[in-house]
Amino acid sequence: MPRPDSPQARLPSVDSLLNHADADELKSRFGHTAVVAALRDEMAVLREALTSKPDLPWSREGIVASTGQRLLAQFEPSLKPVFNLTGTVLHTNLGRAPLADAAVNAVLAVLARPCNLEFGLDSGRRGDRDDHIDGLIRELTGAEAATVVNNNAAAVFLLLNSLASRKEVIVSRGELIEIGGAFRIPDIMARAGAKLREVGTTNRTHRKDYAEAIGQRTALIMKVHRSNYAIEGFTASVPEEQLAELAHGQGLPFVEDLGSGTLIDLGAHGLPKEPTPQQALAKGTDLVSFSGDKLLGGPQAGILVGRKDLIAKLKRNPLKRALRVDKMTLAALEATLKLYQSPEYLSRRLPTLRLLTRSEDDIRAAAVRLQDPMQAALTGQADVRVEACRSQIGSGSLPVDRLPSACLALYPLGRGGGRALNRLAETFRALPVPVIGRLEDGALRFDLRCLEDEAGFLAQLPQLGG
Ligand SMILES: *Cc1c(COP(=O)(O)O)cnc(C)c1O
Repeated sequence: MPRPDSPQARLPSVDSLLNHADADELKSRFGHTAVVAALRDEMAVLREALTSKPDLPWSREGIVASTGQRLLAQFEPSLKPVFNLTGTVLHTNLGRAPLADAAVNAVLAVLARPCNLEFGLDSGRRGDRDDHIDGLIRELTGAEAATVVNNNAAAVFLLLNSLASRKEVIVSRGELIEIGGAFRIPDIMARAGAKLREVGTTNRTHRKDYAEAIGQRTALIMKVHRSNYAIEGFTASVPEEQLAELAHGQGLPFVEDLGSGTLIDLGAHGLPKEPTPQQALAKGTDLVSFSGDKLLGGPQAGILVGRKDLIAKLKRNPLKRALRVDKMTLAALEATLKLYQSPEYLSRRLPTLRLLTRSEDDIRAAAVRLQDPMQAALTGQADVRVEACRSQIGSGSLPVDRLPSACLALYPLGRGGGRALNRLAETFRALPVPVIGRLEDGALRFDLRCLEDEAGFLAQLPQLGG
């Protein structure tokens, strides 16, 4: 208890503040419980402050107003949109593929109401949630059967656990990759209960390496797309056709983790080539897994396509239930896949492809448009220049290829070097829609390839306080 003559003793009670006229709006917006809790927190801070500064001025209006600020901050979502100007289009830490309008609308439509997730509207009986996308995926990839799980890591896990538990899986040493976020092929294999049988060397693996490793306990031959690194120089790997033939000769399946797995010929869009599931299947691969939110441009998901009997085995595994996707994912994936049925509009309607194919001229024009307003917002703080740069596709797709692009490069004025640069980056991250760039060569760089909402970007520049 504070002494009667202490500054704390003069503070109003939480009850009396709750009855202050200004508190009415807070109560109707956030509810009695949250307002009481926030008032208590606010009072605790004030009491503490009065201990060291007994003359600190305060008022009832002031306390209620800062309680309002506290509640606003508390109810602000933690997960929120940002401007991804890092130059990495499919940025795993920034949510990978932005969804197409059609996919967003499809998700919204099934969110707040019941939907036929596992219900046959024709039969009136229980259905299979995969039915909503299985036909589309088969049509687009030419596969016999398909299924979907939570992400590609889950797809690989389900595949290995269903087909190779307590058995051996033959993989080239050059493909024992780690994808960011602790997805390592050897670890996934161990957790799935399969035994890794490494063959070949890091840079060269031959057909006979695989052939000699096949034995009684072999379950599969597996190929893993290298995704985030490239091996150059004196290299050798065995083409899929030969691995499929080798596996089939011994009655074994040949499977491939394709990683990104685009459904289209990226070369036709002026982008570097990336293998497709359709090509893998045509070469005799029995099962192929790939991500939904990398080059495909859809929601986070892992897609498996291939032989009907193998997909059926995967679907019978109880783990499928643990790894299954929800209605939001299915709605977004179905709508995304349907965009591929109108290929002539794909590069306009699918944001991932639209951003990847954006021309350097177009991006540079945006940089020139934004240079003056950005410079005006940063007067006295930084020098703003338009520079050439190179975007990355990201998410382990096409690791060595870069796309010519343009950026706004912000050079902090005065001294302070790295610290000034970090402060500048912090200021942009603190905006209502945080702007994330890249610190490189003494500048904060904003690659404008992924900036589509220029108006929204410009609207918050005055808040930089230049
Ligand atoms: C990205 C990737 C994965 C993991 O996929 P997620 O969808 O992120 O789970 C697995 N294997 C390869 C080869 C990849 O490129």
